[in-house]
Amino acid sequence: VVSSDLVTIALVYPTVLGLYGDRGNALVLAHRARARGLRTEMLVIDPGEAVPRHADVYLLGGGEDLAQARVVELLRDDGGVAAAIRRDAPMLAVCAGFQILGRSFPAAGGIVAGLDLVDVVTEPGQPRSVGELATIPVGLGIPMLTGYENHGGWTTLGPGVEPLGRVVHGVGNRPGAGTDGCRVGHLFGTYLHGPVLARNPALADLMLQRATGMSVLPPMDDTWVEALRAERLGTLGLR
Ligand code: GLN
Repeated sequence: VVSSDLVTIALVYPTVLGLYGDRGNALVLAHRARARGLRTEMLVIDPGEAVPRHADVYLLGGGEDLAQARVVELLRDDGGVAAAIRRDAPMLAVCAGFQILGRSFPAAGGIVAGLDLVDVVTEPGQPRSVGELATIPVGLGIPMLTGYENHGGWTTLGPGVEPLGRVVHGVGNRPGAGTDGCRVGHLFGTYLHGPVLARNPALADLMLQRATGMSVLPPMDDTWVEALRAERLGTLGLR
């Protein structure tokens, strides 16, 4: 939590964990912060560079199986993501980014050990989960989340791990579970691409509130975002 008006956004390994434009989540956070008169600093971390220890918010995106297996080793050696989760820094981890925080995930025809920071396990599943995903966030007081998913992994939450949302369209964590992602303190895991913060400004603002410690953010004009949301939810028969 910052006491100044500078919001530091750490985008972790976007060159590797950047599937489906997930780096857009960082742009959305920066844009919405600046619209509220806050200053922003974007820290784009390449593999081989240290993950900053004192960012206000951390973003991890999706990635291909092999990339994921490589990245998990680098992140384990670096320790910065683990430190951020230990101090309960706001973090958004999408798809591969979410899977690698767990105990294990499939890659290269085998099972790879994850960072073991969250009690979730991902196994290979068939068929691949591809398409629109809509969920109702659990206990966050924000409206339905929309995005799309594209993953081969099936994720099981350990006992005591809350999902980020209940699935109303699509698959999410695994067929039959009816849940998407996880919510552990200020960490959100999810299978939602979109980028998810572009599609869901309320989630972006919630992360911004947690990153800044501001209990209220001044409203901003989301006319076009809301029009697009309505259209997308309409195609799913959810509006
Ligand atoms: N490689 C992982 C899977 O297929 C994650 C894919 C992604 O990040 N979209 O399950």
